[in-house]
Amino acid sequence: MVTLKTKDETAKMREAGRIVAEVLASCRAAVRPGVTTGELDKIAADILKRRGATSNFKGYGVPVLPPFPGVICTSVNEQVVHGIPGKRKLKTGDIIAIDAGAIVDGWHADAAITVPVGDVSPVAEKLIATTEEALRRAIAAAHVGKRLGDIGATVQRWVESQGFSIVRNYVGHGIGRAMHEEPQVPNYGPPDRGLEIKDGLCIAIEPMVNVGGAETRTLADRWTVVTADSSLSAHFEHSLWCTVAGPVVLTAPQGKAAVAA
Ligand code: MG
Repeated sequence: MVTLKTKDETAKMREAGRIVAEVLASCRAAVRPGVTTGELDKIAADILKRRGATSNFKGYGVPVLPPFPGVICTSVNEQVVHGIPGKRKLKTGDIIAIDAGAIVDGWHADAAITVPVGDVSPVAEKLIATTEEALRRAIAAAHVGKRLGDIGATVQRWVESQGFSIVRNYVGHGIGRAMHEEPQVPNYGPPDRGLEIKDGLCIAIEPMVNVGGAETRTLADRWTVVTADSSLSAHFEHSLWCTVAGPVVLTAPQGKAAVAA
């Protein structure tokens, strides 16, 4: 668990967050029918290299899983998370979740967006909007003195009110000196429970929302997680620095207010 204490630590987390935001903005701009997920991965790799950062995704998993081969995760349609970038060409009507991370001098950031490819179905549009709004509401709940259960309850209540389901097999996490640290940050559960949010705590909040049921399964590549009922899934994520002045979104798109209302 990381609670940022010094200006130097904070500056490095902020820099890692800015680089992740740049990666996601560039990948989003490149999404169109005909582009391959591998081409998006190359865009991400080039930005990390140019900024002097490294990937926390590439090679992840050892010794439990085969090393993750991508710089980013690209999860299309019924794929929930951990899709492997490659030769797959995006087509009109697809939705793609892009999950990216960066390490700067040992400090990590992690974020994800879901992007429509051309015109998508009304349900896909609603799924993307609902998941992004779930993240916005979760960030607004991440105030010092509240508990992690307040974040989960906020997300679950919103997502289920829209007729969708929230994935439970994968959750948000602490972030800092490693991509995945304690505590776990579930997107479900009762309020007023779990760890109290302290000044300086860094967490990644990442709702994963399915049109159908919440159940998932993993493909034979041992990485790609899909919905068990093959329904569409969306994913948004930000890395946050919780402060007494409010949550600071480390991976916020440049030019947008970094402190949540
Ligand atoms: Mg994450």
